[in-house]
Amino acid sequence: MGNTTLLKAVRANQIKDKLIIPDAEQPVISLLERTMPAQKIISGKQVVFIRFRMLLRIVRIIFRHYRNISESIRMLRHLVGFRRKALGENRVKKYAYVGGKYYFGLYTPGFYSAAFTNFILGEVNRMFPSGKTANRYTNVLISITKKCALRCEHCSEWETLNGEEKLSLNDIKSIVSRFQELGTAQFHFSGGEPLLRINDLLEVLASVNKTTECWVLTSGHNLTRQNAARLKFAGLTGVVVSIDHFDADHHNRFRGSPESFKWAQKAVRNAIEADLVVAISICVTKSFVSTANLFSYAEMAKQMGVSFIQIFEPKAVGHYLGKDVELTSEHYQILEDFFVTMNQAKAYREYPLVLYHGYYQRRIGCFSSGNRHVYVDSDGNILNCPFCRKKAGNAITGNIELISEQLKSAGCSIFKPLRF
Ligand code: SF4
Repeated sequence: MGNTTLLKAVRANQIKDKLIIPDAEQPVISLLERTMPAQKIISGKQVVFIRFRMLLRIVRIIFRHYRNISESIRMLRHLVGFRRKALGENRVKKYAYVGGKYYFGLYTPGFYSAAFTNFILGEVNRMFPSGKTANRYTNVLISITKKCALRCEHCSEWETLNGEEKLSLNDIKSIVSRFQELGTAQFHFSGGEPLLRINDLLEVLASVNKTTECWVLTSGHNLTRQNAARLKFAGLTGVVVSIDHFDADHHNRFRGSPESFKWAQKAVRNAIEADLVVAISICVTKSFVSTANLFSYAEMAKQMGVSFIQIFEPKAVGHYLGKDVELTSEHYQILEDFFVTMNQAKAYREYPLVLYHGYYQRRIGCFSSGNRHVYVDSDGNILNCPFCRKKAGNAITGNIELISEQLKSAGCSIFKPLRF
């Protein structure tokens, strides 16, 4: 199928998805949504309206499960309270609207979707165990290859990069299916560079059932126009493209390739064109963190038309092992101010939403380490996350649930454990 035909097929499929109304969770699309472009940041009254609909939907989801309206409202209050603890009083004031769904984070499935419903039930079940089946994981990150064309300064996979491939296609499918049996809201596929294994990735995506969202974390290498359309067609929700500076030369030096910035730029364009949700991700080094640099980066992100900016702090693992890369409290303050301003201030309503994990991790603890997330490396080992590399067992040969519980009780080595 040619590029244009494929893209047309992708779009036709989306329209079909919306109009067929496959289950009661699928809304009839409103006039407002029909007239909106494919990828857009919404704010103001639109957000108030969508938030209200979301709250109603959440109460309905909980009520269907617990069959008690006052209990459902009590549970909703707990969910809202939990979110407030994580974000302080910084209520989300904008959403990304892509492909007919609303997104307020990269780790929460789009609203409305079957994945969103199961995500909510999983969260409620953690606070009020019902004895019924609910999602065990909100997010599982799986490294599907060791291959990569880049040599990034911060690479956490440095020791195994471009080594012998251990996971077969069947291994990856089996890992995915075992996590889905336990309930997983999202899979994020990484590497190495996962798009160097595009054909296997497409098969894996086809094997994932639609109660789980799938994302790809990429340097942008090999995210051609055609591959973006094929990924969308196979059911991919979004991509996170790494861009570590607004200046091409800085980024290319950081990534160890003169082509890298160009690849990333093209990847973003192709993914937006294919109606994928698009985030750009940055590892904020000591030399980068300044108010001026952060806002220049935001300006670039807005011009690119992406929905999210994700901020990662450097950790002394992999290629950074033994190096003094940890940020200081002054850096944290600059990042937090940027995070709050970008998501709250009226002047930035049309800019991408910003995700900064350090903000909530320092307030309520770590969502990873077997709590809601785990990381499966390219050998199939289950780890806390790509930065805390404690191995507790293997996702192909071990008992995933038991291994996750072991990680959870040991907790994160940097942040306090989450209560729920
Ligand atoms: S960080 Fe990612 S893109 Fe960079 S070398 Fe490592 S695996 Fe490749």
